[in-house]
Amino acid sequence: MWKIEHRAYRLPFRQAVRTAHGPWAEREGFLLRAEREVEGRREVAWGEAAPIPWFGSETVAEAGAALAGLEGRAEDLADALARVPSDCTSVRAGLAAALGTVGGARGAEGAVKSLALAGLLPAGRAALEAVEPRLELGFRVFKWKVGVLPAPDEWALLDDLLARLPAGARLRLDANGAWDRRTAEAWLARAAERPIEYVEQPIAPEARGAEDLLRGLAEDYPVKLALDESVNGAGDVARWLAAEWRGVWVLKPALLGEPEPVLARLAKEKADLVFGSALETAAGARAALRLAFAWAESRGGEPASRRALGFGVWPLFQDARADAALAGPFVRREDVERINPEALWNALS
Ligand code: MG
Repeated sequence: MWKIEHRAYRLPFRQAVRTAHGPWAEREGFLLRAEREVEGRREVAWGEAAPIPWFGSETVAEAGAALAGLEGRAEDLADALARVPSDCTSVRAGLAAALGTVGGARGAEGAVKSLALAGLLPAGRAALEAVEPRLELGFRVFKWKVGVLPAPDEWALLDDLLARLPAGARLRLDANGAWDRRTAEAWLARAAERPIEYVEQPIAPEARGAEDLLRGLAEDYPVKLALDESVNGAGDVARWLAAEWRGVWVLKPALLGEPEPVLARLAKEKADLVFGSALETAAGARAALRLAFAWAESRGGEPASRRALGFGVWPLFQDARADAALAGPFVRREDVERINPEALWNALS
């Protein structure tokens, strides 16, 4: 019999995160803890519900209500998961993460020992100063937020930024859906002549005709496009697979509901995947990174096709207990397995 509990957190970011909806200063969500006794031995499973409502998940209040409905005893965690409403994707992901660790962590062993992280650069001119210390740490893949300043200003900064990168480094651009068609076309024409790994979400999913437009841009320009905001769960994944999307998929396991069946479908189609952070705490990041290792493992000896993870976000919180100790350019499997949400859980009591 499992005892399921949750605790709410409200954690200020070290720096407010710029979003299309204005600055985001603190992360709200929940840690989830399930405990049972097996033959006199205590087994604890962890999860996290880290909703981002403007990214298609439930709200914090809805997640709290779903978790309150789980509080108490459950015969098994799969039954508890089945009781969570299907639109509560972050709570479902949290429970799926807890379930995934029962009886020993899946993905805790394997031949892939480490994965590269993409360093996140701030929007605007601040990227130029931010890139140097990350290069010194060893980062070679970077992501820069664009669509914040007028395009010509960002084009000048883009060339300054590229000039600072050594040969072999890669830069991905994330527009977070900020562009209209004409701006996207002008950007993609420029990006095509430069060493850009891919351009993420040039058009907002809620823009008129967004899906046709995204598919058209992907066909018309040689630079790779990535879907991020457009893919908010199993339904979106199924739709874009049916539309034969051949670009990159940026997936935040924290918002996928039950990630494993979604990933299995994508694996079957040999999808080009980037695992991304939902700016969750280390508890949720542990589950997401385990899935990233399992994915890399399932790809066998194809390191060239392995894209750097969108987890180069640490340190993220003012309270270091919420951070994973992953500030370098690579994440090792052992670092992931060492993450223990206990200290944060105790701090939330
Ligand atoms: Mg993105």
